[in-house]
Amino acid sequence: MGEKIKLGISTCLLGEPVRYDGGHKLDRFLTDTLGQYVEYVSVCPEVECGLPVPRESMHLEGNPDSPRLVTSRTMQDMTERMMNWARKRVVGLEKEDLCGFIFKSNSPSSGMERVRVYNEAGMPVREGVGMFARIFMEHFPLFPVEDEGRLHDPKLRENFIERIFALKRWREVVAKKESRGNLVDFHTKNKLLVLSHGPKHYQMMGKLVAQAKALPIKEVYLKYQSLFVESLKLKTTPKKNANVLQHMMGYFKGQLSPDEKQELIEIVELYRREYVPLIVPVTLIKHYVRKYDQPYLKEQVYLNPHPIELQLRNHV
Ligand code: SF4
Repeated sequence: MGEKIKLGISTCLLGEPVRYDGGHKLDRFLTDTLGQYVEYVSVCPEVECGLPVPRESMHLEGNPDSPRLVTSRTMQDMTERMMNWARKRVVGLEKEDLCGFIFKSNSPSSGMERVRVYNEAGMPVREGVGMFARIFMEHFPLFPVEDEGRLHDPKLRENFIERIFALKRWREVVAKKESRGNLVDFHTKNKLLVLSHGPKHYQMMGKLVAQAKALPIKEVYLKYQSLFVESLKLKTTPKKNANVLQHMMGYFKGQLSPDEKQELIEIVELYRREYVPLIVPVTLIKHYVRKYDQPYLKEQVYLNPHPIELQLRNHV
């Protein structure tokens, strides 16, 4: 794999003692496992906006759509201070070429969803977004984002990591000369990956690429980018993946022996019924791709969307 993927991350997840109580929230999967493929750009909104460690804890209060950030004991309003800092910080992050962000869950500054917001009666509703996280997501609407809590769910983890690798590959294409040929090449390799997430997007992107000659190339790239990013946000399902696997079988017409074909059909069905993980049929297809030297499938990102060591397709 070429250069590491750059990801933003809440500083305390890296084990830095920056939390209000002087502690941290080290997440070993993020540092030791994903960290092998990723270069992190850490952001601690509360420390970077000038607050000390340790410090008074804070919370959100008021309207969940535009809450105030207030210290919990002395009730100092930190809203303007945090917002002014955050607006500048996101502009600074533009030059980092990030492919996404991993936020600390539940934090009034860094949480990306379901953060507690207290109403006038002092009752919390879990409808808030941390102040920095909100400004970041508004500034970079296409970026994949997750929090460390959600990343413990194997499906959400797989989806997020697939998206950051996909965005990195797309950025590599954008960095080259914009041309219809480069776009067609990228699209051809990523077709089945897109199909496994969004069959409708797959069709729309196919049409867009086919019409690419009729439109200014910049416009085609921008439209393609938003469809690509949107499509990968949609979750894959056993049904969608089984459809892709069956589609792949079609490329071996006349090559698989009747026994090989039967075995593959059975394994795809076992996967569709969630008795075996996706890695099982994918490994068998990869074996046939190599055995029969299938040129189109050999190039498909779908067969190798992220490093196998991350074991993202091993869950049922
Ligand atoms: S949750 Fe955010 S603000 Fe709080 S310590 Fe972690 S990085 Fe800093």
